[in-house]
Amino acid sequence: MAVLEVRDVTKRFSAHGGVLAVDHIDFTTEDGEFLVLLGPSGCGKTTLLRMIAGLEQPSSGEIYIGGDPMTGLPPRLRKIAMVFQTYALYPHKSIRDNIDFPLRAERLDKQERRTKVEWAAGLLGIGHLLGRKPRELSGGERQRVALARALVRAPTVFLLDEPLSNLDAKLRTSAREELKDFHRRVGTTTVYVTHDQVEAMGMGHRIAVLSEGRLRQLATPEQIYHHPADTFVATFVGSPPMNLVTRSDHLLGFRPERFLPRVAVPQRPGDLVTPFEVQLVENLGAERHLVGVAPQLGDQVRIRSVLPSTVDTGVQAGERHEFVVRAADLRYFDADTGLRTEARRESVRGASR
Ligand code: ATP
Repeated sequence: MAVLEVRDVTKRFSAHGGVLAVDHIDFTTEDGEFLVLLGPSGCGKTTLLRMIAGLEQPSSGEIYIGGDPMTGLPPRLRKIAMVFQTYALYPHKSIRDNIDFPLRAERLDKQERRTKVEWAAGLLGIGHLLGRKPRELSGGERQRVALARALVRAPTVFLLDEPLSNLDAKLRTSAREELKDFHRRVGTTTVYVTHDQVEAMGMGHRIAVLSEGRLRQLATPEQIYHHPADTFVATFVGSPPMNLVTRSDHLLGFRPERFLPRVAVPQRPGDLVTPFEVQLVENLGAERHLVGVAPQLGDQVRIRSVLPSTVDTGVQAGERHEFVVRAADLRYFDADTGLRTEARRESVRGASR
């Protein structure tokens, strides 16, 4: 186990007139932490991970693992293990030989290698598959082989690049739980790259949200969700995203599940009360999504309310009802920078009480 430090790291690719893939990123993990790098395609997640692994050199900045500077150190000397999206298993080798491969490179003796392979395979529940070839395994089993192969090297840091993206939805859920359980047992500092906010929320101790090469926010899933640092984080995390409406000099944000029919919420001073014209009702099983507009909030932006389907509010498409957001659930963002600002008094008459 080890602390990973990324110190003011920038990566500029010279191709195509110069692409700034990673822009002055700075963070430190806790020892044993599961840190998720989350962001849309092209935001620099993989580039950052490859620099930590030593597969790419930073243009500037430093990376430390366990307090040691990594600059100039090749991947094999970094005590890291990387699991790729594709798992990169050798198709013609047995599962045993796949897991054994990094140990052969370390020139360990046969008995020691055997013990390590069987320990890792046992930990991941694939001991019975050692004689098979990768093509004879399911996607989830292949993922476990890739993890076992990473584990036998006793890395101080695990780097995982979208390891679940090739699995179908059902398998993804169970693989996510397995991976979390695996991390709990081995306790190795892990950096996990994904563009899937559900994965990030469910797995990370903390989430680093990236956009256009920059770190927008590094915080616990709860903080990211309830106290997003800017409008990018507010709308990237959460599905449906946070509602954002433009006011005179700022943006007002509130989560759909905090936008509730007035009849369901006891009134308190400072709450936002507004008519909501419901245009569409979507029943999604556990939840009901109401889509519409709140003209009094100053614009025609579509906003959403998410209600548990166990609560029958009787709200139908085509109706207009008063809806409420609690004062504590209102978030404020600067209209120019998008950054979160302090609470403001809502100034439109009738929009707040
Ligand atoms: P995805 O989720 O699609 O994998 P990502 O967040 O991992 O995306 P990166 O692969 O890190 O993003 O890419 C960040 C930016 O750097 C992109 O604009 C990409 O086109 C660019 N880039 C990545 N590798 C290179 C390279 N070798 N040469 C030039 N530009 C590159």
